[in-house]
Amino acid sequence: MNLSARVRGLVPSATLQLKAETDRLRREGVDVVDFGAGEPDFDTPLAIRDAAKRALDAGDTHYGGSAGRPTLRAAIARRITARYGGNWKPEEVVCGVGGKGVLYLLMQALVDPGDEVMIFSPYWVSFPEQVRLAGGTPVLLPARQESGFIPDPAAAARALTPRTRGLILNSPNNPSGAVTPLPVLERFADLARERGIWIIADETYDRFVYPGFQFASAAGLRERSGDRMALVGAFSKTYAMTGWRIGYALAPRPVIEAVTGIQSHDASHPTSFVQTAAEAALAAGDDSVERMLAEYTRRRDLILAGLSTVPGVGFLPPGGAFYVFAAVGDLCRRVGAGSSADLAARLLREARIAVVPGEAFGVDGYVRFSYALPEGLIAEGMRRLRAFAER
Ligand code: PLP
Repeated sequence: MNLSARVRGLVPSATLQLKAETDRLRREGVDVVDFGAGEPDFDTPLAIRDAAKRALDAGDTHYGGSAGRPTLRAAIARRITARYGGNWKPEEVVCGVGGKGVLYLLMQALVDPGDEVMIFSPYWVSFPEQVRLAGGTPVLLPARQESGFIPDPAAAARALTPRTRGLILNSPNNPSGAVTPLPVLERFADLARERGIWIIADETYDRFVYPGFQFASAAGLRERSGDRMALVGAFSKTYAMTGWRIGYALAPRPVIEAVTGIQSHDASHPTSFVQTAAEAALAAGDDSVERMLAEYTRRRDLILAGLSTVPGVGFLPPGGAFYVFAAVGDLCRRVGAGSSADLAARLLREARIAVVPGEAFGVDGYVRFSYALPEGLIAEGMRRLRAFAER
């Protein structure tokens, strides 16, 4: 069929594909422990759901402005400035259809055909594809386990070319859980200022950081970066609102206006009553976020204890998000799996556990476990994994 050149090389989201496969097995009655899902298993907090119901009944069902509702933009600007600095103004905020939707629009606004965008691997699955969909070339730089999966500003400086348009940072990181320390972020900000490139900082998991780790936001470094900073956030993980599809970006005004212009021809804006619910989420305080973090902390302890008893599996304790990116090279050799993808396929078939192979994130030899699932299931999944590895 005559599809556009743009989509011919497109790699569909591996995590969404895995979800489809896991759902299919479940429909057939197979009981799968799903470490694949990249989303909270919690319900959206009641106050947020109630706000949406009230909004619906009040007729909050009409078109709105393409940048998102002014009151929501102002609330996001206030929230990010209060937490992380940067003195963001409402006009420097755009709301869109999920963090993913906003990132897509940012790439469209910033990247020209032939431009290079640096991405550190392991990376979140959509980064390279979104760069390619804008006509750009992703330039992959490894962030290695030996360095805590922390991206290296010196490696980025070495990889700069006249075509470099920017780089994507993601902290806390999906899939590695790495939390980039402030001094490293500062060096990236210096690089952006000195070399005139953009930093796109994806901070979708900013609220899920574990004891002993210190989150640093790029938001406060906008000045240091020479105002070359675009920050992306979402309500999806923080408030267990994945299906609502609402996210945002903060960036200098011309970038926000460009993104808004594209959105005016694309989704128009995020759903009206979802924006009202997002405002309610920001107004509701942090209790629900803190409850979820406490729960994730217990689950993290449990899965790390479980993984440490599985032969052939190594890991770095994640500093944030809710994933363990486990090294499985030894396990592959033990069970005769040719790659992480092969291992993941066998784990699904033979051990009935779903994990995402490292190839989806740009590195073989690893699989990602999400621990956004109840403790009983984590314990059962670890039993299955151990039995598989010890066979
Ligand atoms: N950025 C990262 C690093 C993510 O892991 C995700 C979701 O998995 C997103 C962005 C997108 O989130 P949303 O559901 O708001 O589109």
